[in-house]
Amino acid sequence: MSETQQFLFKAETKQLLNILIHSLYKEREVFLRELLSNASDALNRLRFETVTNRDVLDPNAELKIHITADKEARTLTVHDTGIGMTHDEVIENLGTIAQSGARKFIEATKDKNTDLSKVIGQFGVGFYSVFMVAEWVRVTSRSFKKDSKAVTWYATGEDTYQIGDADMSERGTKIEIKLKEDASEFSEEYRLKNIIHKHSDYIGFPIYIGEDNTAVNKQTSLWRTSKQEVTEEQYKEFYRQTTLDFEDPLLHVHISTDAPVQLYALLYIPGKAERGIFSLRKDDGLKLYTRNILIDEYNKDLLPEYLRFVQGVVDSEDLPLNVSRETVQSSGLMPKLKKVLTNQVMRELENLAKNDAKKYEIFWKEFGVYLKQGIAASPADVETISPLLRFKTNLNPEPWSSLADYVSRMKDGQKEIYYIVGEDPKSVLRSPHLDYFHSQGTEVLLLTDPMDSFMLMGLHKYKEYDLKNVANADVEQMPKSQEQAEDKIPEADFSSLVDIFKKVLGERVTDVRASHRLVQSVARLADADASANSELQRVYKYLGKEYEIPKKVLELNASHPSLKNLLKLEANSELQTIIIEQIYENALLIEGLHPDPSSMASRVQQIIEAALQK
Ligand code: ADP
Ligand code: MG
Repeated sequence: MSETQQFLFKAETKQLLNILIHSLYKEREVFLRELLSNASDALNRLRFETVTNRDVLDPNAELKIHITADKEARTLTVHDTGIGMTHDEVIENLGTIAQSGARKFIEATKDKNTDLSKVIGQFGVGFYSVFMVAEWVRVTSRSFKKDSKAVTWYATGEDTYQIGDADMSERGTKIEIKLKEDASEFSEEYRLKNIIHKHSDYIGFPIYIGEDNTAVNKQTSLWRTSKQEVTEEQYKEFYRQTTLDFEDPLLHVHISTDAPVQLYALLYIPGKAERGIFSLRKDDGLKLYTRNILIDEYNKDLLPEYLRFVQGVVDSEDLPLNVSRETVQSSGLMPKLKKVLTNQVMRELENLAKNDAKKYEIFWKEFGVYLKQGIAASPADVETISPLLRFKTNLNPEPWSSLADYVSRMKDGQKEIYYIVGEDPKSVLRSPHLDYFHSQGTEVLLLTDPMDSFMLMGLHKYKEYDLKNVANADVEQMPKSQEQAEDKIPEADFSSLVDIFKKVLGERVTDVRASHRLVQSVARLADADASANSELQRVYKYLGKEYEIPKKVLELNASHPSLKNLLKLEANSELQTIIIEQIYENALLIEGLHPDPSSMASRVQQIIEAALQK
C-alpha cells in the first residue's frame, strides 16, 4: 500500500521556487546540466562506495544516465543508476535548501541590481532550477543500501511537496518532468543532444537518449581528454562549474603525463585573487580523483602554500584504489604528484611572463603577493620563484621589471642589486637614502608592499648578485657624487650643532654624525650596524608586535642650508629645539617607522607660526 505525506517547503525554498518559476531567463537549458551533474555526482559516490563495499544493491548494474523524452506528452525523464536516496535523504536533500546555493542565491537576488542570469550561472542553483521549465516534477529513488525502500517526491513548485512509497526495484534515481507549455523544446531529442554537447560532454558516465544505445557524450572527463580535442569554451565552462566562479580564468594548465607518476590534471589560475563574496566554494584546494573517482574535494597537499590560489582537478592511476580520504595524505605518492604539479604550474607562469607580458602583469597584480610569501616561507623554492618576481624601480616606474631586467640594465662595475623599503611608491622616492643613487643615476628596486619585508627575509641573492638595502649600502666605496656641495658648515660649528642634536634627542638616537652621502636631504636615519635587520623591524610593525621605534644613527647633511640657518638661531632656544625634533621625526616618517604621524601636527603648527612672525 502506498502512503503519501504532504510537507511544507521552508519559507526560503518557497521564495527560491517563486523566483525560478517566474524567471524569464533565456538560458533555461542549464536546468539539464544541473540534473546531469547531480546524476554524475550520484554515480561517482556510488563508485566510491563500491571501492570498499560490494554489499550494495545491484552491484553489477551499469553506471549510466538514461534520458527519455516524449514530445506528445511533453515529458522528460532523467534516470541514473547512482547512489540513490532513502526516504529521509529525499526530505533532507530536496525539501530543504541548506545544501545547495539557494540561500545565497536568494540573498543575491534581494539586490534589485543583480542580474539573474549571472546569478543562476554562479550558484548553479542545482536541482530547483528544474522549476524554470517544469509544470511538475516527480523524483523516484532507491538507495544503494539493500534494506531501504523506494521513495517518491512530487512537487509543482507551489508551497508543498509530497512524499510517498514507490515501486522501484533497481538502485538509482529517476526524475520525471512535465514540461511547461513554453518549454516543449526540451522534449526534442536533437535539442537535448545539443545541450549535452554544450554543457555536459565530459561527464564521466555514458548518457543515453531514447532507444539509442550509443552514448551521446564523450564520457571521458575533460581532464582525461587530449588537449587538441578541448575547446577554449569548454575549458572555461569546466572552470566555472568546478570553481563556481562566474568569471573566466586567467590561465589553464592541462597536464597529462606517465612519468615519474601517472597523472592527469586540469588546473586553473583564477581571474581574481579574491573569491566572490557569494562564492560557494568553501575552501582552497584541488579536487583529487583516483582513477576517475573523487576522493578529496579540497586537497591541499598537491601544491605548495604559495600556489594555493590554483584551482582544479588532479587524477592519478597510481594512487591505490583502496585509498581512503584519510590515508591519501600519508601515501608516498603525494610528494611526487606535488613536484610534478608545482613544476608545471611554475613553467606555465614563466611561459606566460615570456609570451604575454600584459596578462602576466594581471597575474602579478592579483597573485604576486603569494609568490612573495613563497620566497619567505619556502627557501628551497627561492630560485624557481625569483624569476617570476616583478618590481617597480626609481628609474622605471612602468612597466614592471624582473630581476633579470634590472641586471641587464646594471651599470658597469655595479656588483649589487639595490633596493629601498618604504610605505608607498611615491613617498619612498623622497627618501634621503636615495640621494646618492639618484645623483649617480643608479637603479633601485622600490619595495613598498607590506609583504616585501617578509620576502626580503628569504631573498638575499639573485644569480651572483647580492641584494642590498640602499640604507645600508657602503657608499664610501662607490664613486663620489659630483653634486655634493663643497660649501660645508665649518668643522667647529658643525660639532656644536651635533651636540645640540644629541642633547635634544637623547636616548632616541644612538649617535648623531655627518653624512657623506646626502645631497638634497637634511638628514637620514641609518643603522649603527649596517647588518642590522631593518626588514625585521618593519615586519614587527606590520604584525603589530610590541613595536618600539628602533634606535638609529641620525646622519646630517653638513652642506644643507637648513642646518646653516638652524645654527643662526639662538642656541637651545625653543624654536631650535622643536625644529630638531621635527627633523628627526621627518626622518622617521620617511623611513616608514613613525608610529603616529598625526602627533606631529601641533609642532608643525608652532613652526609655521614662528615662520610667519618673521
Ligand atoms: P548540490 O548538487 O549542489 O548539492 P542540488 O540542489 O543540485 O545541490 O542537489 C541537492 C541534493 O540532492 C544533492 O546534494 C544530492 O544529495 C541530492 N540529489 C539530487 N539529485 C540526485 C540524484 N540524481 N541522485 C542522488 N541524490 C541526488
Ligand atoms: Mg547539483
